Amino acid sequence: MKRINSRAWLQNHTNPFIQKLISLEEVIWFNPKLEAFQAGIEKCPLSFSDVLEAEKRLSRFAPYLAKVFPETQTTNGIIESPLVKIPQMQAKLEDDYGQQIFGDLYLKCDSHLPISGSIKARGGIYEVLKIAEDLAISKGMLSIEDDYSILASDKFRSFFSKYSIAVGSTGNLGLSIGIMSAKLGFSVTVHMSADAKQWKKDLLRSKNVKVIEYAADYSKAVEEGRRLAEADPTCHFIDDENSRDLFLGYAVAALRLQKQLELAGITVDENHPLFVYLPCGVGGGPGGVAFGLKLIFQDHVHCFFAEPTHSPCMLLGLISGLHDKIAVQDIGIDNQTAADGLAVGRPSGFVGRVIEPFLSGSYTISDQQMLKLLKDLADTEGIYLEPSALAGMIGPVKLAAEGQHYLENHDLSTKINQAAHIVWGTGGSMVPKQEMEQYYRKGSNEKGQSD
Ligand SMILES: *Cc1c(COP(=O)(O)O)cnc(C)c1O
Repeated sequence: MKRINSRAWLQNHTNPFIQKLISLEEVIWFNPKLEAFQAGIEKCPLSFSDVLEAEKRLSRFAPYLAKVFPETQTTNGIIESPLVKIPQMQAKLEDDYGQQIFGDLYLKCDSHLPISGSIKARGGIYEVLKIAEDLAISKGMLSIEDDYSILASDKFRSFFSKYSIAVGSTGNLGLSIGIMSAKLGFSVTVHMSADAKQWKKDLLRSKNVKVIEYAADYSKAVEEGRRLAEADPTCHFIDDENSRDLFLGYAVAALRLQKQLELAGITVDENHPLFVYLPCGVGGGPGGVAFGLKLIFQDHVHCFFAEPTHSPCMLLGLISGLHDKIAVQDIGIDNQTAADGLAVGRPSGFVGRVIEPFLSGSYTISDQQMLKLLKDLADTEGIYLEPSALAGMIGPVKLAAEGQHYLENHDLSTKINQAAHIVWGTGGSMVPKQEMEQYYRKGSNEKGQSD
């Protein structure tokens, strides 16, 4: 990886945002490169048909998933999560921050996605399924007209066992890839960064997944995983930093959300804007979802990324224009956060470039605030999320307090009264009870001030 000379670079960049990032202040940034949807999509290397193709692939696998993961039977093998209104939490936010949130607040509960309990059950599982399908079709064992429940057989498991899958992860991607790959019969290795929680490693090992632990952060785990996988021609390395397939798997969420909004009678149009707040690590999850939403709702949807003050990698990549050529450590930020799903120091360059014309903005949030919001959501709505998943929750407050310019420029100042705000709840249902109690206790000690 080519690195910049960060000291020289910093001397030439007196951007006030960069200075605030360095001092770990919470910031909100509005993207000056945001374009009208039609202009943005013309330059984009991905299209609507790519997302539709991914959705069709997931439908082909639905009979298989329903068979091997009984928890997906109620949705006929479709991995999807509820969208819920959270009025008590909205009132709590308005009280605590002294700021009215115009419009209605919703939570997209990817925390409760079946199989692996996080947003990674979208992209991660999708990519594994695509690898399996490509292999089986290329060897003449499967055709796309087949009922894919035939994959749940010794014949296919023994076929897949000749191949391996590897991935580097802070935890949740490893869970998704590991559980899905092992179920199909692949030999699978997860390279875990130091941030990864013990329970995730234990769970994977109990499912016959090989877990290799690193004392370093996510970028190192990915680098090592990639290096080892390259030496093995039967190994497919799932590259979270550059994967088009992961991205498209995440993007399918938008098609599903569109139906949920229709069913719930929530309108998104010229006069009813939709605001979406997405916790961001390396960028694939939030990038894919945001991209899908832009394809559907175009200029009526406004997507914001949320990152910890200690790991603002995507924001740094976007502001500097350097994308994956800069890491937070290059400007003296430590990448140490309680939000383990977001503990990424260097963003995906692929995602940064694809999302640049579509992203409305991005903001940072302190660990203290995330933990406080974790407790508040549990107290007000009885919903338990992991710390990373709370990064989005402060977005509507920040937008109302600091987004006047953005709202005026997009003729939204009055329309925001009819807005829907969706906070993407990216993970949490698989966190062991004891761990969750610890988070909750830490949240009880926080007043929500930033460090
Ligand atoms: C992975 C993850 C994210 C962010 O997804 P990226 O693709 O890394 O940007 C957000 N929240 C949780 C809980 C995650 O596990």
